[in-house]
Amino acid sequence: MLKGQTALVTGASRGIGRACALALALAGADIAVIYAGRADAAADTVRECQALGVRARAWQCEVQDFKKAGETVSEAVTEFGNIGILVNNAGVTRDKLILRMGEEDYDAVMDINLKGAFNMTRHAAGYMVKKRFGRIINISSVSGLMGNAGQANYSAAKAGLIGLTKTVARELAPRSVTCNAVAPGFIETDMTKALGEDVRNAALEAVPLKRMGLPGDVAECVLFLARAPYITGEVIKVDGGLYI
Ligand code: NAP
Repeated sequence: MLKGQTALVTGASRGIGRACALALALAGADIAVIYAGRADAAADTVRECQALGVRARAWQCEVQDFKKAGETVSEAVTEFGNIGILVNNAGVTRDKLILRMGEEDYDAVMDINLKGAFNMTRHAAGYMVKKRFGRIINISSVSGLMGNAGQANYSAAKAGLIGLTKTVARELAPRSVTCNAVAPGFIETDMTKALGEDVRNAALEAVPLKRMGLPGDVAECVLFLARAPYITGEVIKVDGGLYI
């Protein structure tokens, strides 16, 4: 059980983040729901968490904003009394082949997907260290492990997250704070809905389990890591065998 713990989940208004928020709430954690623009969707997540009997509140925060990230973490701690679990899930894609990728496409994806995780971790780690307890879980991607044509920016950010994960794991281990990454494959969310039918079919062909993952499949792994006291610096794929 995670009763008495607070989990801050970025990008919890939709998709994988929402599924993580609900899984952690079902296990008893209070939930800080972080979103970028979709207040209605975030409010739905909050209501669904509250219906599971925990406290929940939403904060609008673009994770790439260092100062706002700090204010948001601090407000969540004031509201709930602690922050024991941080799920760095917020992410975007701006897919283009390298020959066509603009500087803005690169910077936006690096800022949100990689710097965002640094920002939240930087601000949350102090509270965790003080309490001698913390579970930091970064949502990377198999694209960060194997590369993916059209995703130079995204693959670089997701590979960077793995380096961040391993370093934070080493630095904070002496204070009983763990840091791990989850690398999902092809998961059914708004992010993958945006792909064309032919791309989706080709991706499915490559998945040995012959189905797309569901947000709940990833959330199961996040919940497992939130409860795991002796795993740190690890990267767990949730990809139906895509990258065996
Ligand atoms: P999604 O359905 O597109 O949802 C993205 C979430 O991130 C939304 O809650 C969105 O908030 C939030 N967000 C976007 N930009 C943000 C920002 N600047 N600051 C704070 N929050 C922001 O995405 P998803 O498929 O669930 O993906 C979640 C994570 O899993 C991402 O890191 C993604 O890279 C990773 N992942 C996904 C797949 C997949 O196949 N879907 C595979 C591997 C890895 P709003 O609702 O307010 O816009």
